[in-house]
Amino acid sequence: MELTCIMCPVGCTLKVTKQKNGEILVTGNSCPRGHEYGIKEVTSPERIVTTVKKYKSGTISLKTEKPIPKGLVDSCLIEISKASTNQELKAGDVFIKDILNTGVNIIVTSLNVN
Ligand code: SF4
Repeated sequence: MELTCIMCPVGCTLKVTKQKNGEILVTGNSCPRGHEYGIKEVTSPERIVTTVKKYKSGTISLKTEKPIPKGLVDSCLIEISKASTNQELKAGDVFIKDILNTGVNIIVTSLNVN
């Protein structure tokens, strides 16, 4: 598998292959973070989820405060779309606590309200 390391702006092209003995080989990385990322990407990939949602007369930007398993991204977005609040929000507030029992909160990153 070939993929781009997203751990820094350099964006090294990684080649990740599984050996016959089960060992995962990562090449193309310029530093240890790329090696770690390559292994994680083929064993248990995770993603930060970001989205924008209507709020009052404008919108709020939301994101997971930590990465969640890649397989839960769609469900996470559905949960966010279903959630609503009349609470006053500000950047940094928790919008949804412990989304999908991941232990990860959805936080407000910015508001654009007229
Ligand atoms: S391997 Fe290292 S230098 Fe290359 S993109 Fe990933 S973090 Fe950056």
